[in-house]
Amino acid sequence: MISKVGIGSALAGAGYLAYHCYSPESQLYGRTLTHCANPKNLALTYDDGPNDLYTERLLEVLARHEVKATFFLIGRFVSARPQIARSIADGGHLLANHTETHPNLLFLSHSKLRHQLSNCAQAIADATGIQTRYFRPPFGARRPAVLEVARELELEPVMWSVTCYDWHRRASAESVFNHARKGIERSRIGGPVVLLHDGSHTTLGQDRSHTVEATDRLIKRFKNDYCFRRIDEI
Ligand SMILES: [Zn+2]
Repeated sequence: MISKVGIGSALAGAGYLAYHCYSPESQLYGRTLTHCANPKNLALTYDDGPNDLYTERLLEVLARHEVKATFFLIGRFVSARPQIARSIADGGHLLANHTETHPNLLFLSHSKLRHQLSNCAQAIADATGIQTRYFRPPFGARRPAVLEVARELELEPVMWSVTCYDWHRRASAESVFNHARKGIERSRIGGPVVLLHDGSHTTLGQDRSHTVEATDRLIKRFKNDYCFRRIDEI
């Protein structure tokens, strides 16, 4: 007979493990980069591009402030919009791997995981000639096999320390800026790694004007407190 206590602790155990699959700062399933080692550095990171209109508008804002950032690109969008991927590289930003089609990696076999990461790396290399060295799992979801495959392909996993909820249907420049500001001000360990989105994993052309505007405000607000760095410089 299974006791209630037994079931309770099994459920608590499953909850604990699930928590560590998604928690951006968990190190339970292997070392992942979550913050800047130097507390004076701040890394802006953008996921789910390249994206029509908004990636290039964002590049204009970053160029105006002379800030370099990191872009976690989706392979199939890179193949569809190689010229935007090249504009990101030409702007001096770091290109990184965000899988080929943005699946939840918790549910993929080892060989499918490999395809997701290596196809994205190939798409970026074909478009720009750049070999990616960093990788962020879609939805932040990982399990030990995900990190194993990343290591096999010499990709360092990167999570984040500040969430801005800019993918939310009702996100505005104001809400994104406020989430970012609070998260940055609350940073305790090292310097913040800020998660933002210049695209949407569902389709090209999604409106990210709020993220572009929030980025402009964030840089103005924090440029005297932090050096803005790429993930390979922190
Ligand atoms: Zn994503």
